Amino acid sequence: MSANKRRTPSLLSVVAPVYNEAELIETFVQRTCAALADYSFELVLVNDGSSDGSEEALDRLAAADPRVRVIHLSRNFGHQAALTAGLEHATGDIVAMLDSDLQDPPELIPTMIARWEEGADVVYAVRERREGETAFKLATASWFYRLFNKLAQVDLEPDSGDFRLLDRRALDALLAMTERSRFLRGMTVWIGFTQTAVPYERSARYAGETKYTLRRMLRFSLDAIASFSHVPLQISTYLGLLCAGVAFVAIPVVIGLRIAGSYLPGFGTITIIMLLIGGMVLIALGVIGEYVGRIYDEVKHRPLYIVREERNQPAPWQGAGLTQGPQARRARAGLPMIERSAPPRPQ
Ligand code: UDP
Ligand code: MG
Repeated sequence: MSANKRRTPSLLSVVAPVYNEAELIETFVQRTCAALADYSFELVLVNDGSSDGSEEALDRLAAADPRVRVIHLSRNFGHQAALTAGLEHATGDIVAMLDSDLQDPPELIPTMIARWEEGADVVYAVRERREGETAFKLATASWFYRLFNKLAQVDLEPDSGDFRLLDRRALDALLAMTERSRFLRGMTVWIGFTQTAVPYERSARYAGETKYTLRRMLRFSLDAIASFSHVPLQISTYLGLLCAGVAFVAIPVVIGLRIAGSYLPGFGTITIIMLLIGGMVLIALGVIGEYVGRIYDEVKHRPLYIVREERNQPAPWQGAGLTQGPQARRARAGLPMIERSAPPRPQ
């Protein structure tokens, strides 16, 4: 894109979920504010039901700096729901999302903004190196991305996480996807637009421990695959077809053997086959159950998160329902309205 077409952001929103990060949250805010000193920005920190003093730390930070907005959720809703809460409350023209544990360096955001200025709508950071992760986490992550890309219809960069910068149009498209089980990194690819990668080195956690236990990681991967692929459902169909096919071929064989007089009782074989087929039927039912459960979650249409309190919320638009539309967002952010003069009507 030529230089005169470059766009400039009037407000940047930085969204980060916070769950029991009392040890490092102040450092995170300091580093982010220092890295973005040249921009007009708001920092939207979503407290995902922390219970370790993060809440008080966040309130202090919000009291000290009006650019720091804090959204306290009513309980722990999980990383992806907390991120969604932050994205829905962001008022900027461009929105960056990153983890608050300083594994995603906020110093990379200006580089991401530069890509956006050049015309990219979704800028995603790709980890070139990952420090301080266990071999187990690296291996399971790599298996997951390989499996996901085989099964799902979206092409997700293997080493990209949720560290992304989105243009307002892309963000609105993302927020229009109302599904309950959210795999945000897949969803930001699915929406399309111009996507660009920025390489970075992912550092180790600054302090504290990972909040993703093995169980949570497993749940997260199942959610991701089930929301982007029907292949697991189709696998049961193919397995069923295979079994039926084998049985179909076996019928004349058994009849033939019986006529030939060499028929063996084969009790063991039958037991094994029954167990095998029973197992496959149960697996198929389990797969269907996973999807039916998700359909149930979707139709209940519960909110993804519940806000308990907000700090430094842009007055006077307080209800979430009033946040729609660029003018409402600009008013919330204290920016002047966009003047739109209607083109003259042809007589
Ligand atoms: N997080 C959250 N809610 C949760 C779990 C995590 O808001 O239920 C936040 C956490 O504070 C951090 C980010 O999500 O900023 C990523 O979590 P973590 O660092 O534990 O995951 P990892 O980097 O180990 O995958
Ligand atoms: Mg982390």
